[in-house]
Amino acid sequence: MHTFEFIRPADQTAAIAAAAQSKTAQQGADVRFLGGGTTLIDLMKLNVETPARVLDINRLPLDKVESTRDGGLKIGATVRNSDLANHSTVQRDYSVLSQAILNGASAQLRNMATTSGNLLQRTRCMYFRDTAMSCNKREPGTGCPAITGSNRTLAVLGTSEHCIATNPSDMCVALAALEATVHVLGSKGSRAVPIGDFHLLPGGTPQRETVLEPGDLITHVTLPAPVKGSKQVYLKLRDRASYEFALASAAVVITITGGNVTRARVALGGVGTKPWRSPEAEAALVGQPANAANFRKAAEAALRNAKPQSQNAFKMELAKRCLAHALQMAVTG
Ligand SMILES: Cc1cc2nc3c(=O)[nH]c(=O)nc-3n(C[C@H](O)[C@H](O)[C@H](O)COP(=O)(O)OP(=O)(O)OC[C@H]3O[C@@H](n4cnc5c(N)ncnc54)[C@H](O)[C@@H]3O)c2cc1C
Ligand code: SF4
Repeated sequence: MHTFEFIRPADQTAAIAAAAQSKTAQQGADVRFLGGGTTLIDLMKLNVETPARVLDINRLPLDKVESTRDGGLKIGATVRNSDLANHSTVQRDYSVLSQAILNGASAQLRNMATTSGNLLQRTRCMYFRDTAMSCNKREPGTGCPAITGSNRTLAVLGTSEHCIATNPSDMCVALAALEATVHVLGSKGSRAVPIGDFHLLPGGTPQRETVLEPGDLITHVTLPAPVKGSKQVYLKLRDRASYEFALASAAVVITITGGNVTRARVALGGVGTKPWRSPEAEAALVGQPANAANFRKAAEAALRNAKPQSQNAFKMELAKRCLAHALQMAVTG
């Protein structure tokens, strides 16, 4: 393991100033913030991440869950995943978020993991995590062995010829369906980024995963006011019942009035290179009777542009069934 300098910045200004000295906020960053460390330290042990400086942000005042004036919720960057999932307001008004977090990792990991760290967790692609292998995301221009190699767990939506890695987060799928906003403070001031714009598609630059620039500190995430009367479900399908990443997952926030769908927000996990909001599925649902045939049509629409790889064509049908079943659960639950 390489050596690094461990720093506890006194406040946000000092943290941002120190991180702004990094050449990049993306793969290869030489300065990294430390949340729970369950992604960063893991990757440092593997030499996939080799920052010269690690800035511990756990003592910054970013650990609160608070109501906002517009009836929404403000979630601090260092709020632990366990605390967020078990927060009474989240369980009552944003249950899809609670369900998604509790479906991820293990109790011990959730006790450590933070909101901001979860937003920035890295792919589990085995080539990315093995420095003996080539990988465009880790070392741009070296190639993507996953395309002709082991790709059973990798993405079918949003892929490029340069990278087909899945975004592994459960939490982010729920945040996509809830239309969350990520708030960032950097050396040029603060900005609010809709969750749908926060993660980037791999395209020709898979090493660039988010819109973050050097020095950018995620301070909090906001959720809009809850939609009264909405039904919320997170359904995760995986190889084993716990401690496993999604092969396919679906987050649905749906409102049904008089038997018809009047509002739908749908996002998929385990199948996209980023947390995958599906406007196609939403459009197929709204205005239609809430029944199994229409849920299937919405699922077909969600996967219409999917591109399977050599080992993961099964995800196409799995994701469709996952979404259709999540919608059915929302109706019956
Ligand atoms: C065995 C195992 C199983 C897992 N299973 C699942 C699963 O089923 N589902 C799932 O969703 N996840 C799973 N995870 C991943 C886990 O959810 C993430 O590791 C965790 O959420 C990361 O949060 P953290 O606070 O520990 O991040 P850290 O490791 O501290 O940080 C991650 C990245 O975020 C950056 N960062 C952190 N905070 C900020 C900030 N405020 N501003 C800017 N940058 C920041 C860090 O610099 C780093 O690059 C699993 C992890 C492990 C090890
Ligand atoms: S899929 Fe992406 S992360 Fe995996 S080997 Fe290819 S470039 Fe690397």
